[in-house]
Amino acid sequence: MGELFGTNGVRGVVGDDMTPELALRLGRAIGTWSEGPVLVGTDTRTSGPMLRDALVAGITSAGAEAVDAGVAPTPAIQYSVEETDYAAGAIVTASHNPPEFNGIKVCTGDGTEPVNDEVADIEEIYFDESFPDLAWDSVGPRSEDPNVVDRYADAIVDEVGEDKLGDDPPTVVVDCANGPAGTVSPDVLRRLGAHVVAINAQPDGSFPGHDSEPTPENLASTIQAVEAVDADLGIAFDGDADRCVFITGEGEYVPGERTLALVAGAMVENNDEGLVVTPVSSSQCVADHVENAGGEVEYTAVGSPIVADVMQQRRALFGGEENGGLIFPDHQYCRDGTMTAAWVTKHVADNDETLAEMLDEIPGYRLVKQSVDCPDEAKDEVLERYTETVDADDVDTTDGVKVFRSEGWTLVRPSGTEPLMRVYAEARDHEQAAKLAKHARADVQSIVDEVA
Ligand code: MG
Repeated sequence: MGELFGTNGVRGVVGDDMTPELALRLGRAIGTWSEGPVLVGTDTRTSGPMLRDALVAGITSAGAEAVDAGVAPTPAIQYSVEETDYAAGAIVTASHNPPEFNGIKVCTGDGTEPVNDEVADIEEIYFDESFPDLAWDSVGPRSEDPNVVDRYADAIVDEVGEDKLGDDPPTVVVDCANGPAGTVSPDVLRRLGAHVVAINAQPDGSFPGHDSEPTPENLASTIQAVEAVDADLGIAFDGDADRCVFITGEGEYVPGERTLALVAGAMVENNDEGLVVTPVSSSQCVADHVENAGGEVEYTAVGSPIVADVMQQRRALFGGEENGGLIFPDHQYCRDGTMTAAWVTKHVADNDETLAEMLDEIPGYRLVKQSVDCPDEAKDEVLERYTETVDADDVDTTDGVKVFRSEGWTLVRPSGTEPLMRVYAEARDHEQAAKLAKHARADVQSIVDEVA
């Protein structure tokens, strides 16, 4: 059987591998699988209405009700699925990819993204085409839910506290990347009490402000805006607002792993203890900061659905990914950009220190990412042989092989999407990290040369 879902759902270039035919067929599979009403939403991409309509046709053709939420952040759809009686959710989005991309994310009845068995169930229906051919009187209805965004905004304001930012609230530049963050995030931060300067807040799927991946390069004008209005912090969302990154009042871009460490450490400190869940690829700064605060870290395989699943099973205090996708379990078990923005803004308002000063307390590391070409069919054997060559006491095989040494760590894992073995190395400085990566890469390369 083929594989439809990557690490984060189905994604591709519109008109090439992301077509209305695919959306229709996946809609038929979701409608067959869901056994109840499916909430459907889109980000702001120009191809969104086309793909949504195909998806809705598929869902209703299988006898399920399709409920249109309109344009909404991915976590807003997930929140409504969990809080109301929807059986599943489907979101037309390509997250941070350029405007020519689109995709479909699915969530189960509790609002979480499907993990292994659930993905296999949907894929089986999709590839076997085991959909019903229903008569006219069994086709599912189509309706609308106009309250998805408001329901979500109210939940975050309730969780963080309305008008609780004090007499001297922070000034925040909020960059919505012309995506669905604009429907909710500036408004939520204003309700908390912040002075908000919103940019790129109008929905526009051609992304006139900048591409929707919140990288330092794409955020040059956001950083300028933070400096121009003398803001306390800047916040920039990705294309479906399930994650965001921060900029300090001094105009410094904050890498996602440092935000993860900051929030996780503060959560543990407030609670005196607690478990934090993150993928094996996360920076050591997360474990260091969490352990310094009295907590523990548990590593998972790469992918936010797996992090959320382990958090639920282990009743973790907090979790997230190094790309700035943070999961607040009291709110919901999925990455949530606006919740992250609200929590960090409140944390900055509550502290005497600036965001930059708080981040200074987190140990610094440098990560080097490389790869080795490797045919898909050789990946298992390459990984097995590489594992046999590793000579170290502290090894984690949750996802690939992660080796901890006194000078840093290396991780070798097969790419889930490309014919590559990925090689990561992290150490206190770049030179040391590059040295570790070079050795691991050479080891992997020589095994690939033998096997492939
Ligand atoms: Mg995203």
